[in-house]
Amino acid sequence: MFDTLSDRLGTVFDRLRGRGALSEQDVRDAMREVRVALLEADVALPVARRFIDSVTEKAVGQDVLRSVTPGQMVVKIVHDELVEMLGGGDGAVAEGLNLAAKPPVVIMMVGLQGSGKTTTTAKLAKWIREKHGKKALMASLDVARPAAQEQLAVLGTQVEVATLPIVQGQQPVDIARRALESARLQAIDVLLLDTAGRLHVDQALMDEMKAVAGVSAPTEVLLVVDSLTGQDAVNVAQSFSGEVPLTGVVLTRMDGDARGGAALSMRHVTGKPIKFAGTGEKLDAIEAFHPGRVADRILGMGDVVSLVEKAATAIKEEEAEAMARRMAKGQFDLNDLRMQLKQMQNMGGLGMLAGMMPGMKKAKQAMAQSGVDDKVLVHMDAIIGSMTPKERERPELMNAKRKKRVAAGAGLEVQDVNKLLKMHQEMARAMKQIRKMGGFKGLAAAFG
Ligand code: GDP
Repeated sequence: MFDTLSDRLGTVFDRLRGRGALSEQDVRDAMREVRVALLEADVALPVARRFIDSVTEKAVGQDVLRSVTPGQMVVKIVHDELVEMLGGGDGAVAEGLNLAAKPPVVIMMVGLQGSGKTTTTAKLAKWIREKHGKKALMASLDVARPAAQEQLAVLGTQVEVATLPIVQGQQPVDIARRALESARLQAIDVLLLDTAGRLHVDQALMDEMKAVAGVSAPTEVLLVVDSLTGQDAVNVAQSFSGEVPLTGVVLTRMDGDARGGAALSMRHVTGKPIKFAGTGEKLDAIEAFHPGRVADRILGMGDVVSLVEKAATAIKEEEAEAMARRMAKGQFDLNDLRMQLKQMQNMGGLGMLAGMMPGMKKAKQAMAQSGVDDKVLVHMDAIIGSMTPKERERPELMNAKRKKRVAAGAGLEVQDVNKLLKMHQEMARAMKQIRKMGGFKGLAAAFG
């Protein structure tokens, strides 16, 4: 996600941070580069322009330029502006699904064919069942695409959510009525309606959506769009929002979206919040969209909160909480690193986590260059395992003699020990940086 943009911005900001003093010209030069990076990421022109103007205005203020860490402060301003562009502060988390209405709460899924609508419907049903503990029912109103209804039934079995029995020949509005009736009879909490798609936005489709919304009175109307289509996704959202009362957008295929233009422009252009991001073909590959966390990820500060949440499901919850608390205090020794390595193994190896953990991206690049793979996790664990408890808490104790002993104990070379220590240093530094910029706010709050 956002790899290209992330790399470009990283280069610009490394340069800014590396300087003790900044002139107004330095800031303007950097902003010119940021602008190019945004446009290359396929961000809509007016959005990019507004972004740069706003950041420049704040950043050339004397307070910033005269401060002790002007580079840091500029990065912080860019971060806050990115959060804004993506749809608000940490508080925007509350924009998740509105499931509090009188049951059955109706969620209507709309979008073009191939956007990932049916898959997303099943992912959300699973999410609602597992995260909210609610009873869901899914119904496919797609009578246009052959086997669309059967597809949803198959997905329903996989996510263990009931689907409305198929009645051949029934039209969408009638299916919606029958689904509502069935949901009431079975005391269903949430009814998900997977509507038909088309190849393009057309009037017949819009009329059908309106008619379905008319009989089902949805609490949520979620538009599913493919993030890989960039500005087209934003245009589709605009067309739909003129016709049906959209409550939010789900961006699919974020896993393959290195540019991120759709995510970055959506809110400003359409006024609609992005509520979820689809991140893969598997039925649990969906994430609530948190503007603050996404901004962190774009700026290469890692997405510590998402990471800790993922970790919490992979390891014992208390352990994850303890780690989050230590990280929020800026503590990070080799014991912490070891626990993270263990989690990485649990969570599917290095590939999954690159970019989520602070400093991990650089560390991974370094490792890839020297031809290391997931095996390295096992090696690193062995190295830390050969250290004394004191050495784990205070890695600075590691002198040449100790390194030799530890390497021998792990059956590895001294250079492997050095690599591990370097990675630890980088991660510890990245975490300090996030802490300075207030990136742990949400984390500390989440774990009290
Ligand atoms: P629909 O025509 O809009 O209902 O699209 P489908 O739900 O049938 O999805 C089309 C294809 O996109 C399927 O192969 C899905 O597995 C895939 N897909 C859906 N969402 C995602 C996602 O977030 N990431 C990836 N990589 N693939 C996805």
